[in-house]
Amino acid sequence: MNHYDLIIIGAGAGGGTVAYALAPTGKRILILERGGYIPQEEENWNPDAIFQGRKYQVQEKWLDKNDESFLPQAFYNVGGNTKVYGAALQRMRAEDFQEVKHLEGISPAWELSYQDFEPYYTRAESIFKIHGQKGEDISEPPMSVEYTFPAIPHEPRLQEVAEDLGQLGLHPHHLTLAIDRNVADPETSPCIRCATCDPYPCKIDAKMDAQKACIDRALEYANVELKINAKVNKLITDKTGQRVSAAVVEIDGDIVEFSADTFILAAGSINSAALLLKSANEQHPHGLANSSGMVGRNLMLHNHSAMFAIADKPNPTKFQKTLGFNDFYFGSQDHNYPLGQIQMTGKSQWNRLAIFSANSVPKATLEYMAEYAVDWWLTSEDLPDPNNRISLTNDGQIKVDFTRNNLKAHQDFVDMWQGYLRQIGFYFFIVKQVPLSAVWLLFFYC
Ligand SMILES: Cc1cc2nc3c(=O)[nH]c(=O)nc-3n(C[C@H](O)[C@H](O)[C@H](O)COP(=O)(O)OP(=O)(O)OC[C@H]3O[C@@H](n4cnc5c(N)ncnc54)[C@H](O)[C@@H]3O)c2cc1C
Ligand code: SF4
Repeated sequence: MNHYDLIIIGAGAGGGTVAYALAPTGKRILILERGGYIPQEEENWNPDAIFQGRKYQVQEKWLDKNDESFLPQAFYNVGGNTKVYGAALQRMRAEDFQEVKHLEGISPAWELSYQDFEPYYTRAESIFKIHGQKGEDISEPPMSVEYTFPAIPHEPRLQEVAEDLGQLGLHPHHLTLAIDRNVADPETSPCIRCATCDPYPCKIDAKMDAQKACIDRALEYANVELKINAKVNKLITDKTGQRVSAAVVEIDGDIVEFSADTFILAAGSINSAALLLKSANEQHPHGLANSSGMVGRNLMLHNHSAMFAIADKPNPTKFQKTLGFNDFYFGSQDHNYPLGQIQMTGKSQWNRLAIFSANSVPKATLEYMAEYAVDWWLTSEDLPDPNNRISLTNDGQIKVDFTRNNLKAHQDFVDMWQGYLRQIGFYFFIVKQVPLSAVWLLFFYC
């Protein structure tokens, strides 16, 4: 029987979480996921396979605004992008839901407030086993509970960097992390705090990704079913045109239809919009839910830079993603506009630096730099712009028409952070703004 109470499209962060939350209802639930399972194998933790080989990344090509094709850093598999994520799961700030004035414009207010979301954050943090320390992060929104699991401590070099920056008046905090680490009893801990977490899949299944935290647990319920390698090609509406009644799905080359009373579209920002556009029919010639013409518009990617900062002390840290700073989230003494958020990224190895450096840098130099580098990730807000959009070509290829904005604030932020790091002994920096192909920290403003 191909009829279900509920069909969820996509087994990533969104689809996985909703499947797990609804599993106990007893409703007949089908999850459709276009990818398969990422196997636990040697290459999971091999930087050559991850950075040079692009293992696990999708092979399809998308177009940019100039019709140049690029390989998106997207991951089609059970768990979605969270299989390779950095596992830093943070609540949005209370102010993020209100109107915020940025250097280049306004980030409009949401219809809902932080307080509406607070109980759900609390629940999600429990499901994803968040480790953290309430009260450290100066931009932290009001929380109704303490974190269930203690913060993951910094390794010695990072502790030193945190203290040095603290001496300059900044407020270091422990990142809130979704990893299955037993801090009190490392000997029995599933997570071993390795150097290959962000952006690798976990070879020993200790990362709280959407598969481990949600899909595997949802599938323990008899009423929940998952079909893998099941790509939804089109949504069909009923006679009224007001409801989606069925999905046309390609499974291993066969075309199958599944119907349901309710559909949840959780295929990631870009693929969800693409599917709505692709599902155009006589009643909806411009795509489903698109009478406003806004589906696929107001795409926001954030402005991100990776910063590899080198001092004359080696950095033997393995698991580096423990430290963050939100001192400049709403601005600084010299900037009366929001700058952004600072966190660590996965410890650089020469293979990763090779991607961010000029081709001519010899491997030995990259290895030296990787040994001494402390690796930062700086994120600033961008602004909704209806001209920043995804659309489909006549043959269904995804086009990402995107021009960055609010970049000066990001550049100010990067310059300022370098200034702080120089004060504590860092003297050489590789800074790389993250390109369009990194299409994984995004959403549409609606
Ligand atoms: C390297 C990396 C590091 C990251 N680090 C962090 C971090 O530290 N903290 C953080 O908060 N976020 C991080 N992210 C971002 C985070 O992973 C995403 O924001 C999140 O996974 C988005 O959830 P989603 O459910 O919208 O999409 P996804 O998790 O991508 O899930 C969408 C799913 O839908 C499936 N799908 C797509 N189209 C179809 C279709 N037509 N039919 C059927 N299935 C379909 C896909 O295969 C995929 O499994 C990171 C991402 C990457 C890649
Ligand atoms: S740090 Fe822990 S969760 Fe992350 S990949 Fe290593 S073992 Fe897995």
